[in-house]
Amino acid sequence: MSQFDYDLFVIGGGSGGVRAARVAAGEAGAKVALAEEDRYGGTCVIRGCVPKKLMVFASEYAGVVEDAASYGWDLKQGPFDWHSFQTRLNTELDRLEQVYRNLLKGSGVDTFDTRATVAGPHEVKLATGETKSAKHILIATGGHPVRPDTVNAQLGIVSDDIFHLESLPKSLLIVGGGYIACEFAGIMNGLGVEVTQYYRGAQILRGFDDEARGLVAESMRERGIDLRVGTNIVEMAPAGDDHTASWTGTASDAAMGADVKQRREMQTEAKDANGPIWVKSTNGGERVFDMVLFATGRDPNTKDMGLEEVGVKLGRRGQIEVDAYSQTAVPSIYAIGDVTDRVNLTPVAIREGMAFVETVFKGNPTPVDHDLIPSAIFTQPEMGTVGLSEEDARDQEPVEIYCTSFRPMQTAFAGRPDRVLMKLVVSKETRKVLGCHIVAPHAGEMIQLAGIAIKMGTTKEDFDRTVAVHPTMSEEIVTMRTPIRTA
Ligand code: NDP
Repeated sequence: MSQFDYDLFVIGGGSGGVRAARVAAGEAGAKVALAEEDRYGGTCVIRGCVPKKLMVFASEYAGVVEDAASYGWDLKQGPFDWHSFQTRLNTELDRLEQVYRNLLKGSGVDTFDTRATVAGPHEVKLATGETKSAKHILIATGGHPVRPDTVNAQLGIVSDDIFHLESLPKSLLIVGGGYIACEFAGIMNGLGVEVTQYYRGAQILRGFDDEARGLVAESMRERGIDLRVGTNIVEMAPAGDDHTASWTGTASDAAMGADVKQRREMQTEAKDANGPIWVKSTNGGERVFDMVLFATGRDPNTKDMGLEEVGVKLGRRGQIEVDAYSQTAVPSIYAIGDVTDRVNLTPVAIREGMAFVETVFKGNPTPVDHDLIPSAIFTQPEMGTVGLSEEDARDQEPVEIYCTSFRPMQTAFAGRPDRVLMKLVVSKETRKVLGCHIVAPHAGEMIQLAGIAIKMGTTKEDFDRTVAVHPTMSEEIVTMRTPIRTA
């Protein structure tokens, strides 16, 4: 008979926490409990990847209808009905949440629908007042979006709020240049919203390959997004008598295609959700937007969790410091996922959860492998990436760069200017492919497969030996024969 109520108490019912709990219980036979204060499924399922991707799909249909005419179809473009979409979206999220609950139940995990905090190395306190003891505690509480400390920043929304909007705004300012900012710029633009994006740096998607992010930025502008780099927000206030500067159209209106304009005019539902907001930017410009979205990063959920009190070490941004086995400074307490701020991606949190169970419950110490993680940014077009950017690779060693950019068959036929990019960064010495960067429709699907080859340590010559699949966009990845430059 164990001296503890549970072998494992997991705090947080997102992708990482749920996976660890059900594998520990279902496969390792551990007695497990999990507490979740919000909805099961966490950021990814409830307010992140899943609803975001469904919104990407929704936003792409306007373009599909436009292109269909070039293929002989007589389809009529109608308005986008946000309420109809939102209702279906909510039904799908309810379904997925139930799937997560059932998975836990099916594995024999006890669940507590309440907030839990750490009260000791082996003790968890529930908001209901109960205390539970556990041999091991796993913190998987994720993160939350943060606003900058701009005056009146509370007037702006964050990504969590998008899915609950009563109606879409007519005009939207997005602040930030990371994943969330760029993905929502594409989504909202596709849904007919006039999108302006301010990014403080010189180019969006900092850290990714320069050529790849350059093409994404150019494509975003071509599609009608008014992307301003080297620009930030300095002041904001409710637009009123004192702040009457009115929005008079974006700089890219002139360059915008007739299709984008038409789509925007058809956005019949557009109205301001919380009243217009006056914004002053770092370059002195004053504009009024119906809505401002801050996509300015996320912080780990460690506040008031009782962590430091029991000896768990936190980093500068509040993230839990862990070793390669996800163990904190308190041996019985582990942490996985965004709360540790290592690589903040759902599949990584899941892997960290699995490695934790291997280590602690299956007697097989397994460090988490964070090397060569493929990922996709669901901008329009998408960007898929694995390994080193050209810039990082050439700092490391001499490299050859293979790169091609072209107009893909499907959209070129419809008369669109869209271009795609395929790029390989190759070590001159070992011939290994150090990085692969794809900007193209469905780049996320492509990079998953390229990721396997690159994780296996494939050389450029292995790519060359592979026969092309024709006619596809991705065949170019095996037909690039001559480096465009060495560095
Ligand atoms: P990111 O950290 O990717 O981007 C934050 C952006 O906000 C950066 O452009 C940053 O600028 C800018 N910023 C930060 N502070 C300020 C400020 N005070 N004023 C103006 N701009 C500011 O965060 P996100 O919120 O976009 O995404 C969080 C994480 O979620 C990502 O890192 C990713 O791991 C994950 N994610 C993954 C997705 C996917 O896999 N497709 C999708 C969405 C999220 P600067 O570059 O100068 O620092």
